[in-house]
Amino acid sequence: MIALEKTHPREGLWQVTAPVPEIGPDDVLIRINKTGICGTDIHIWNWDDWAAHTVPTPLITGHEFAGEIVEIGSNVQDLALGQRCSGEGHLIGKTSRQSRAGKFHLDPATRGIGVNEQGAFAEYLRLPAFNVVPLPDEISDDIGAILDPLGNAVHTALSFDLVGEDVLVTGAGPIGIMAAAVARHVGARNVVITDVNPDRLALAARVADVVPVNVLEQDMASIMPGLKMKQGFDVGLEMSGNQAALDQMVEAMTMGGRIAMLGIPPGKSPVDWSRIVFKAITIKGVYGREIFETWYKMIAMLQNGLDVSGVITHRFKARDFADGFAAMKSGSSGKVVLDWT
Ligand code: NAD
Ligand code: ZN
Repeated sequence: MIALEKTHPREGLWQVTAPVPEIGPDDVLIRINKTGICGTDIHIWNWDDWAAHTVPTPLITGHEFAGEIVEIGSNVQDLALGQRCSGEGHLIGKTSRQSRAGKFHLDPATRGIGVNEQGAFAEYLRLPAFNVVPLPDEISDDIGAILDPLGNAVHTALSFDLVGEDVLVTGAGPIGIMAAAVARHVGARNVVITDVNPDRLALAARVADVVPVNVLEQDMASIMPGLKMKQGFDVGLEMSGNQAALDQMVEAMTMGGRIAMLGIPPGKSPVDWSRIVFKAITIKGVYGREIFETWYKMIAMLQNGLDVSGVITHRFKARDFADGFAAMKSGSSGKVVLDWT
């Protein structure tokens, strides 16, 4: 089969011919139709310090996918050949305290496809049947291929009750934009999204009913009166990984505000803790998606009017993957989807 592999420990990815994976009794084999390129894949392409310390070579990369089941292990009862599916890319252990409590997304022994294990940038993927998420007919393969990052957005956005609340999203990357759309869908009062990149803010305004703010041009305090806000934001969703954005968020929060942090700052990031203490702010770190509650909720929302399709800005044939990575690296794209059919 054709696959995209991190063959050498340096910048780039290489198209290779690899054997179709053999499945075990608890696995399925998925023929991949579409894949999404993630920020993680860009780290792996660039071979930064994180990638060099985390990713073995050679390794087939990629973890955002939609496809169809073409082979089923002998122990697998509840899946059928031809079933369209996406799936959770975190392969969890079953022995930790967290897993045994049903908090699978908190298992410390988690391994990621396309990061630690063979991934989805390939014509075929082996996946434990446990990780498969069947796709209903009304969810396309394009959307199926971005359920992984939509899951990050949903998990973060649903960290706190958003009904009637004023919500600030910092960072209008694909995940921030989808989180803003989710906040709007579940009944937030105002949803403001910030960035420093006008292309990203314009994309946010096309995809979701949000107020875009370029923090290089406008300060947060000046926009609040127009939104009938007296104090500050009730809920913050940090989706940039940028230290200045977190500072701005803490400043813009109301007393007793709640912040969910998905963005990953590069290294240690100083924070004004006294502001956080005196404002009595709650901060929650968010990792991945809840397995499988986030998957359940996002599919239910997609079936009931949540529309994030506009966040996909580029589509390429898999063989043109270099163009797809270039679009992602431009910093102005939304999601980039590769077609393996
Ligand atoms: P992205 O890099 O595409 O988007 C980040 C955006 O933040 C960019 O548009 C950038 O211009 C903007 N930004 C930079 N400085 C800013 C500032 N001062 N104020 C507001 N915005 C600013 O990222 P993404 O793919 O959308 O992912 C969002 C974040 O979530 C990233 O940090 C990523 O590493 C992280 N992430 C975390 C998890 C997890 O499990 N915790 C999973 C996936 C992604
Ligand atoms: Zn991803």
